Amino acid sequence: MKKYKHALFLNPYTEAQANGTMKLFPPTGLEYVATSAKPFVEKLTLLDLRMEEELSNTDNLMNFIRLSGVDIICVCVGWDRQYEEICKLLNLMPEGIPLVVGGYKATEKVEELFAICPRVSIVVRGEGEESIKEIMQDRPLNSILGISFRQSNSFVHNSNRPLIDVNKIPVPDRSLRRKDYYLNLNGINVAGITFDSVLTARGCPFNCKFCTFSLNPLGQKRAYSARSVESVIEEIASLKAKVIIFSDDNLFVDPKRIERICDLIIERKFKKRFIAQARIEIAKSPTLLAKMVKAGFKTLLIGIESPHDRILAQLDKGFTQAKIREAFKVLMKYPIFYSGYFIYGNIGETKEEMLYIPKFAKELGVDVIACNKLRIEKFSPLREVAENTPGYHITDRGELYSDAFSHADLKKIGRTIKFSFYTPGRFVKILWKNIFITRFFTFREFVSFIFLAPRLLASTIAREIHRGRLKDSLKRTFIQNKA
Ligand code: SF4
Repeated sequence: MKKYKHALFLNPYTEAQANGTMKLFPPTGLEYVATSAKPFVEKLTLLDLRMEEELSNTDNLMNFIRLSGVDIICVCVGWDRQYEEICKLLNLMPEGIPLVVGGYKATEKVEELFAICPRVSIVVRGEGEESIKEIMQDRPLNSILGISFRQSNSFVHNSNRPLIDVNKIPVPDRSLRRKDYYLNLNGINVAGITFDSVLTARGCPFNCKFCTFSLNPLGQKRAYSARSVESVIEEIASLKAKVIIFSDDNLFVDPKRIERICDLIIERKFKKRFIAQARIEIAKSPTLLAKMVKAGFKTLLIGIESPHDRILAQLDKGFTQAKIREAFKVLMKYPIFYSGYFIYGNIGETKEEMLYIPKFAKELGVDVIACNKLRIEKFSPLREVAENTPGYHITDRGELYSDAFSHADLKKIGRTIKFSFYTPGRFVKILWKNIFITRFFTFREFVSFIFLAPRLLASTIAREIHRGRLKDSLKRTFIQNKA
């Protein structure tokens, strides 16, 4: 006899308020946890509010919960964005139904969530697949590792749960989805291309100082743990998506393993397009790069972080500007689309150093860049450096600023970097490379993409108007870039 008759797993973020990345990915973390819970409940509904126009209306959602016999609700709170809105939603949940929250933000803010969301009964901290099974089996809460729970007027924090072997975690059950996911730009579906993500390993053996991907929000370092090649191949084979992103922090920790995965993709003739995150060291494996192209790898997202050796050393990135240049000389030989991640606003970084990023990216041949201000999360090893550097400050949300560069200054620098790189010619190059070099888009998709262009342009203009910066954007695109 199962304790719960109908469990609701909810991704509470709404389409209207999500930003680019938040709109793109299926809620894989929630799907992992829901899949683990499934055998222990009679019925399970997984709702992703980004995909549910009707149910993203709060009244409709509450009616759905009341009328469908839901007797436990599990909500993923993973992002900083929409945090206040999500807390409001949690407070509207019906009384008498256990409300469990988990995810990155929930783990970081356990006590705050209990304080501001009286309806929350349990917070699952860190990886939730094992804890949720025990919650669903109605085990005594004080015996479940990795959770915090409300008791009388206080809350209890049980010990952390040791991280389990990734091969023991079932892969997300896609049959729980109510809709398919599509590649989208700004929330606009791109040429009907189905999209999914696959996680082949958890953790990362590197220790870049700014990075909290390799730490969970409890500050625990997840030892690198990779799934078997066979299980990864079976998961890919089961997916109907045409484009798959590997969501590993760095897919190429063990190049021989990925070579084997490529061999099997080629052997089994999967007709998929792949995107992955990498470090520049991948350039040392030309055999792997050649196989990746053959297997359908179209895009690599590479953490470059900075052109400056002093900053790279401060971030403990493990390479220098010369090594980056050397790597890109090799990478440019392959028909792959390169997206470079950069960080600006580093400790002691001058304005000139920050503004060198777009020039450097162009010198390397990177196709697109993503620039983010340095963030200092709770357990970041950079926190001590920032706190001990006179003139630097960290906000509660982990944003770093200084007496020399306020938030507004850094925002302005970020926009200058963006507009120096993204000239009108750059957009032509991006399309050209994706159509004729990497062949990411088929001809048919390209044609639908062309029809989509006016909608994309209109949504970009609407966004800029909404943020009150259309005039500045036009000026930067057509005047700054001409100069
Ligand atoms: S930045 Fe990338 S390589 Fe460095 S620790 Fe984080 S995930 Fe690993």
